[in-house]
Amino acid sequence: MQVYADNAATTKISEHALKAMMPCFETVYGNPSSLHTVGQEAKEVLEDARARVAKCLGCEAREIIFTSGGSEADNQAILSAAYYGARKGKKHIISTAFEHHAVLHTLNKLEKEGFEVTLLDVKDGHNVTAQQVQKAIREDTCLVTCMYANNEIGSILPIAEIGAVCKAAGVPFHTDAVQAAGHLHIDVKAQNIDMLSLSGHKFHGPRGVGALYVRRGIPLVNVIEGGAQERGKRAGTENLPAIVGMAAALEDACANLEENNRKVTAMRDKLIAGLSKIPHSALNGDIVNRLPGNVSFCFEGIEGEALLLLLDMKGICASSGSACTSGSLDPSHVLLAIGRVHDVAHGSLRLSVCHYNTDEEIDHILTSVPEVVQTLRNMSPVWRDLQNGDREYIL
Ligand SMILES: *Cc1c(COP(=O)(O)O)cnc(C)c1O
Repeated sequence: MQVYADNAATTKISEHALKAMMPCFETVYGNPSSLHTVGQEAKEVLEDARARVAKCLGCEAREIIFTSGGSEADNQAILSAAYYGARKGKKHIISTAFEHHAVLHTLNKLEKEGFEVTLLDVKDGHNVTAQQVQKAIREDTCLVTCMYANNEIGSILPIAEIGAVCKAAGVPFHTDAVQAAGHLHIDVKAQNIDMLSLSGHKFHGPRGVGALYVRRGIPLVNVIEGGAQERGKRAGTENLPAIVGMAAALEDACANLEENNRKVTAMRDKLIAGLSKIPHSALNGDIVNRLPGNVSFCFEGIEGEALLLLLDMKGICASSGSACTSGSLDPSHVLLAIGRVHDVAHGSLRLSVCHYNTDEEIDHILTSVPEVVQTLRNMSPVWRDLQNGDREYIL
């Protein structure tokens, strides 16, 4: 049995999204910037996709910029707010310690350029509160950027409350909603979001495409310079097939959100209940405000990488930490940020399920993970020390 439980890393494209893309290769292949009929047909399809994406977020079509993905959208949102802030002498940015690297590395770059960054602590409940944001806001704060939901541990942040705090203080608010779009309800106006990033391949659309919502009146700087596409804010010939596929996938995800979430949440809760029975284990992330498909655990005395390899041999595709850091020996910055010590953070497992998963697959995971954890513990010198009392259990 092959079980794909790594949907936070990427998702299988839906048949509908794939079918929606095909005409853009076969008949609507024009360049939307061309003035002839074939180009103008492509332009119409592009603007139709923009209006449909906007509708899913509760904004206007002209507030949507298509990008190459979530990373580019994050970079552009953050750099824009920073550079416009600097013009007014405001060089302080607030974010959280468990953001995606697309955000954290952009902030690192800005720090080198003289910006000051406050990363909010996420140890308490594996989440942040609007009060933390409120307390951190200063006269010279030019941006608050907090993710909508965490990609590793599934914590959902109180985005509407943070948005309200930012609005009251007159500080622009960006959210990396890459894990939320298509999975959680979004209404950028009601939630007071000024900028929002999303990515097609996290909700069964194609990869290499994303969108940045920018509220009217919020200025943008270009990350990609060139032609006047996307109202001059993002150069490059539009990736029309991917944009159309993303629009179709987002519409489907939003239309079926409640039904999918009911199914996925039930699978998640069954996994959490089953895996919690493994001794010396701990659930990572907010227990209540949690992405429907996210299951994240630390198991003491084992290595996450070894766990993944043995699970793969049983047909289970999962992740340990984020896909972006696998291959590096450092434990996940997210697990360290929520207060897991190095040894424990190394023994992590993330299962991210979606509506394509079946009950049989969940049962297969529930029998396989405890077996594999036991196999690894039996081989582990650390586990032997723990069992002998030569070392203290942390979990
Ligand atoms: C996947 C992901 C990104 C990056 O999106 P890409 O489209 O792969 O560039 C950014 N933020 C979060 C939270 C993600 O999960």
